[in-house]
Amino acid sequence: MTAAAKDRIGALANSVIAGDRRALAQAITLIESTRADHRDDATRLVDLLLAKAGGSFRIGISGPPGVGKSTFIERFGLHLIDEGHRVAVLAVDPSSRVSGGSILGDKTRMPDLSRNDSAFIRPSPAGDTLGGVARRTREALIACEAAGFDIVIVETVGVGQSETAVAGLTDAFLLLLQPGSGDELQGIKRGVMELADLLVVNKTDGTLREAAMQAAAEYRAALGLLRPTKEGWTPEVLSCSALNGTGIPEIRAALERYRTILAGNGTITRLRADQNRHWLKTELSEGLIERLRADPRVAQAIARLEKEVAAGRRTPLAAAEEILAALSLPDWPRKG
Ligand code: GDP
Repeated sequence: MTAAAKDRIGALANSVIAGDRRALAQAITLIESTRADHRDDATRLVDLLLAKAGGSFRIGISGPPGVGKSTFIERFGLHLIDEGHRVAVLAVDPSSRVSGGSILGDKTRMPDLSRNDSAFIRPSPAGDTLGGVARRTREALIACEAAGFDIVIVETVGVGQSETAVAGLTDAFLLLLQPGSGDELQGIKRGVMELADLLVVNKTDGTLREAAMQAAAEYRAALGLLRPTKEGWTPEVLSCSALNGTGIPEIRAALERYRTILAGNGTITRLRADQNRHWLKTELSEGLIERLRADPRVAQAIARLEKEVAAGRRTPLAAAEEILAALSLPDWPRKG
């Protein structure tokens, strides 16, 4: 990296830390870039920002399409701003890979919040892998914290594995649900339910009110069978109407209780350390695979060995070992 580039990145980092929103937007654009030279700049930038990060309450929010995520985040975000907080909203959008566009984090979905000076909303970029999208969101989160946002909401649509990725980025995970298909639990997989620190049944209003109360009771019964999500915390089921705002202060209070307990007993510190270790492993394995694919000798070997494995002439293990041998990796202790 040239001295001029270092200066440029240093200046950008300083502007972000000074709370300059345009600089923050520019920093996240750099973080999202897929150009190899931008990646070096972004890595340096994030390193500079890291010292000022970590100070926010990181809240993951997920739920099926149409459950009311954007309505909820708008309402909840404005409530937090009324309390004096600065709120950033980021999205992890697994669908952007398929559709080429983002269905989350779109500013038009949260018109009042996006116009507010104390809010920062960032649509999710399309990504090749969920890991890649999660990496950029993780780094964008660091940038938002460095810029002084003290609450960062990471939103994801409840499809696929993005919930796990978001839970792996945040301190608390809130799952939004709506009244509906009863004991089917709306197709929400049990694994996702188990991630939730707070289950919130939205649309508890108007003609949906009774059904919403019923759904909340069912979730409460189902949750009774679940274990605590974190040391000192057993998940709770709450109700709200994002449309008219009822239940929002109670959700805010529950999250504050959560944070007080888990910050107090060291759980959040341990959780973040675990998350960082996990992401290091993910980066390592994704980086290794990227390099494998980029090496033409390895690509040839993979093509040839895939055929042999498919034809049953080689075992997958032997084939994988031959591919790995084509890399100049140090040998590692073998079992057996
Ligand atoms: P998202 O896809 O999860 O972001 O859902 P949206 O926030 O776009 O909401 C989907 C639909 O549900 C919209 O028509 C909203 O107006 C409606 N909706 C959201 N929250 C509520 C609520 O609390 N009560 C009712 N009755 N409708 C709601």
